[in-house]
Amino acid sequence: MVRRRLIAGNWKMNGTAAALGEVTSIALAAAQHDEVDVALCLPATLIGRAGDAARGFAIGGQDVHYADKGAHTGCISALMLVNAGASLTIVGHSERRQDQQESDEDVRAKAETALAAGLGVILCVGESDAVRERGEAVAHVSAQLDASLPKAPSDASRLSIAYEPIWAIGTGKVAGVIEIGEMHAALRGRLIAAYGEAGQAMRILYGGSVKASNATEIFAVPDVDGALVGGASLTAADFVPIIAAAGDRTPR
Ligand code: PEP
Repeated sequence: MVRRRLIAGNWKMNGTAAALGEVTSIALAAAQHDEVDVALCLPATLIGRAGDAARGFAIGGQDVHYADKGAHTGCISALMLVNAGASLTIVGHSERRQDQQESDEDVRAKAETALAAGLGVILCVGESDAVRERGEAVAHVSAQLDASLPKAPSDASRLSIAYEPIWAIGTGKVAGVIEIGEMHAALRGRLIAAYGEAGQAMRILYGGSVKASNATEIFAVPDVDGALVGGASLTAADFVPIIAAAGDRTPR
């Protein structure tokens, strides 16, 4: 099955108003590649202004609370994201699973709330280097996905998975194409087990030190339907070549 690729940038805790020029440059370049879906998941403080600066371009959040509203200081609801102009959000990034001790149950609840609010969701899973060294990566990440997946989402097409080995995030280390292929095939199996035919159509992104220099090789791996990109999404100069690589469907 040919799936439309998604390239999403995750700016993490980077970017102020001075960076809005990068957003508009990336949005302009993305418009030249309408064969690829492109999004930037920005700090919440930039979502509204980025939406104004780059009309029609997909802006996302990096997290969402599972409650609709209430006494949750510092948190952001799905309605707030939508109201600010976001059309998607990341949930379950490993930095939040680690730093904020988010559990699989939290991630599932966040994904369900975001989908119900009409947002697209990029749900992240991935193993530590210790788990991979023990030879348990596929079993660990499969179980993590099973426990994090929303139950009976009304629209599974808005849900994408990002496989991000923790040891590859921001380190310059990239999983090998054999490891990526093995993991994505296993995750595809879990999605089909959970959602049937809809699981076949869902996108599975790879994330972890994706750059222009390795993107083409990664996108050629079966069941890799795009990328979640951290450091290389911060500037148009680094990000646009990754978008271009995703748009190139030349058989390899
Ligand atoms: C990420 O934060 O999701 C990520 C993949 O980061 P980087 O591309 O910098 O490894």
